[in-house]
Amino acid sequence: MPLEQDVLTIGHQLEKLVSEGKSDNETISDLLKRLKELPITLDILQKTRIGMTVNVVRKASNKDDIQTVAKGLIKSWKKLLDTQDKDKEKEKEKPKVNKQTSQEKESKPAPRDSRADSGGSYEVPPPKGNDPIRIQCREMLVKSLKLEGRPEFNPAYIAADIEEATYQMFKDTGSKYKNRIKSRVMNLRDKRNPALKQMVAEGEISPERFANMTAEEMATDELRAEREKMTKQAINEHQLATSAGTSTGQFKCHRCGKRKTSYSQVQTRSADEPMTTFVYCNECGNRWKFC
Ligand SMILES: [Zn+2]
Repeated sequence: MPLEQDVLTIGHQLEKLVSEGKSDNETISDLLKRLKELPITLDILQKTRIGMTVNVVRKASNKDDIQTVAKGLIKSWKKLLDTQDKDKEKEKEKPKVNKQTSQEKESKPAPRDSRADSGGSYEVPPPKGNDPIRIQCREMLVKSLKLEGRPEFNPAYIAADIEEATYQMFKDTGSKYKNRIKSRVMNLRDKRNPALKQMVAEGEISPERFANMTAEEMATDELRAEREKMTKQAINEHQLATSAGTSTGQFKCHRCGKRKTSYSQVQTRSADEPMTTFVYCNECGNRWKFC
């Protein structure tokens, strides 16, 4: 546990510096060097998502030495993932119970990002008709989705989408609806299951899917397997990225309607396939991609 905590702390410090625009700071070098000395395992990698953070640092920094250390770290971690992958292929293959749509699988992953603006209070988009019960539920979800050490992350839209999906399921705010919201909130707050919250917050689990999940699905094992896959995919994609994490007003988010997005372009697999563009909304965390 203390190792995981160390890694998390370093990750938060890195994210903070980058979000403050101090991506060339010497502290960053020091933090990366400390990471290098830690005996990071695959498990830690997946629990902390430190790979994503280091990638953000690498892209944000203009300093050679920072980039070199960051690249070295990512490369060594990627080896861990590859090794494990081979082990897994050997023990093929039980049928998967929990089918997810290919759309969900694919709506992934642009860089986790540093958002500079938007303060501490998150204004929740109200439901149609401004039903006070529904507003209250949205606020509860927002509270449970806040990420520690990342005040720039705005969970309001995701919370609203979860509530909306739940409401559409029951069409009223009766006890079934309330119990559904309550169980979402409880699971998001479950300290033993941090992966769930992070995956919901970062869009790896869509709000609709989350609203429909059973207690078993929200519990850890399956999620961990899924997350492993995501982590690996993210690292691969970042390695292939030709232009990454560029901020732009070019794309309009269909969820919040703002134009505060970053995008990265990835050449997947063979060179004759078209580039895939991953867009990430800095305002509400929405992600999408197109070719
Ligand atoms: Zn958005």
